[in-house]
Amino acid sequence: MLSLGGTGIGRGIAIGRALVLDAPQNEVPQFQIDTKRVDDEVLRFNRAIAAVRQELRHLQSNLPATAPPETSAFIDVHLLMLDDPLISKEPGESIRRDKINAEWALNNHANTLAAFFDNISDPYLRTKKDDVAQVVGRVMDVLTQRPERSPNLSGLGHALTDRIIVARDLSPADAVMLRHRSMAAFVTSLGGPISHTAILARSLGIPAVVGLHGVIDTIQDQDELIVDAATGTVLVAPDERLLKQFQRLQARQHDERQALAKIGEKRAATLDDQEITLLANIELPEDLNALKGSGAAGVGLYRTEFLFMNRTEPPEEEEQYQAYRQIIQAVNGPVTVRTLDLGADKQVDGGRDEPKAAMTPALGLRAIRLCLSEPSLFKPQLRAILRAAVHGDVQMMIPMLSSLPELEQSLSLIREVCTELEREGAAFNPNVPIGGMIEVPAAAIAADLFAQKLDFLSIGTNDLIQYTLAIDRVDDSVNYLYDPLHPSVLRLVRNIIQAGDQANIPVSMCGEMAGDPVFTRLLMGLGLRQFSMEPSQLLEIRQQIRNTRLSAVPEWIDRILACTDTAALHELVDQLNAQECV
Ligand code: PEP
Ligand code: MG
Repeated sequence: MLSLGGTGIGRGIAIGRALVLDAPQNEVPQFQIDTKRVDDEVLRFNRAIAAVRQELRHLQSNLPATAPPETSAFIDVHLLMLDDPLISKEPGESIRRDKINAEWALNNHANTLAAFFDNISDPYLRTKKDDVAQVVGRVMDVLTQRPERSPNLSGLGHALTDRIIVARDLSPADAVMLRHRSMAAFVTSLGGPISHTAILARSLGIPAVVGLHGVIDTIQDQDELIVDAATGTVLVAPDERLLKQFQRLQARQHDERQALAKIGEKRAATLDDQEITLLANIELPEDLNALKGSGAAGVGLYRTEFLFMNRTEPPEEEEQYQAYRQIIQAVNGPVTVRTLDLGADKQVDGGRDEPKAAMTPALGLRAIRLCLSEPSLFKPQLRAILRAAVHGDVQMMIPMLSSLPELEQSLSLIREVCTELEREGAAFNPNVPIGGMIEVPAAAIAADLFAQKLDFLSIGTNDLIQYTLAIDRVDDSVNYLYDPLHPSVLRLVRNIIQAGDQANIPVSMCGEMAGDPVFTRLLMGLGLRQFSMEPSQLLEIRQQIRNTRLSAVPEWIDRILACTDTAALHELVDQLNAQECV
């Protein structure tokens, strides 16, 4: 038996067999393409073939004198294989016929060719399968332009019940593909508590352990695993005794969750009757199911960028309108639609096709910066949101604001879009409240200035912590510095809440901190009255609120904010949480 330790997400236990996803270099991006993109895609494929042919010829004519004499003949074989219709012609036809991307088409035909070699009885000819893989690999490298990062998810079957996914990393785009495959747990080498793998695990309500270095090389496919998210432990090939012990623990947790389910119908109010608004974070229309029974009063964060992932072209205005409308009509309560937050860790294709490799993507052209630089991307979304807003209670929220001119430019673009819609006689809501995500320290420090121009504020602690503590949220080597209780973070959170109060506008929190019961009493004590989180967290947070006497919290807040020692500060928060119905 082997015991491995990483960062646990959630508190559950999963027992099941490992499903180790392909090493990154085997990954093949697979997605459908629009009819109007077919010619471009075929051209891209043909150019990749031509580039590899040229590369091989160049190699051949520049062979060093010391190269073995048969090298040139090997290259000839590769050139011949490249010209095989299964590699150089038929993928182009598949792209046209099946409307699939070039890599996917090539992979399908390469598999057919590989199967042909597999069935040859001559052992020498059978080894030619490796040459096929090498030639295809060269074309793939040209097509994908960079070494790949994520595992191949598209080849997986639909239901993964009782399987524990073991991967190097999962990008937000991968997360979209995994969303409906009911796996038991995740284990990844990379990722931290606010990485998108972690957010995905929370939104699916399954346990996960991230940042478990080297796990992909340690765990074999089909290994029996126990994942204990509370301690961040993964046990490989556990003995009978441990298995029984964890099965009992798992059954107890299941019973506790069942008991908790009843709380969804009860009020989210403290013992001294302070009402708290509990909202859900969602990413796709399919997430609406998770809202059932959660008691969510609405959606506090709809991350629209997920609609833009795993495709070559952004969705057109009409498709966006339909998606937003579906959510707005289905949710019983207000829906806060966040405008696009693409860039940095949220690439449309999981990072495979990054046009400009920014030095520090998190500080680059992301979210509202990207949208303002590409009005042709942003305006259809604004139009779609304003149109969909006639179907319910909608707010619009702008991510990653850092400067006032940026906010003014955004507001002016929204006004411009309203004028256009009005001129066209379209049905839309011109009075949608506009809020801003406060997740950049500059905006948190000057929250009062932003509050004067906005209808509400929402604290994005995932990014606020990343930027305040200078720790890249996707770099697991600096996970250990992630600390929502860092005095700088607490002061910024308090400052934002106070700025909202002074401007008389609501302040919510939609980062992962809002869904962690460790911080619920503290945040209520700091004045937070709206919490938005992954639906799976809602019941536990509701229970924590119902177990709190708010009037007893402020004295703890004074002590916590005055505390100068990190360990003592954490101890104080533990003591606050340990208080029986404070
Ligand atoms: C945040 O930054 O806290 C947030 C909620 O947004 P995201 O995690 O999508 O960046
Ligand atoms: Mg954010």
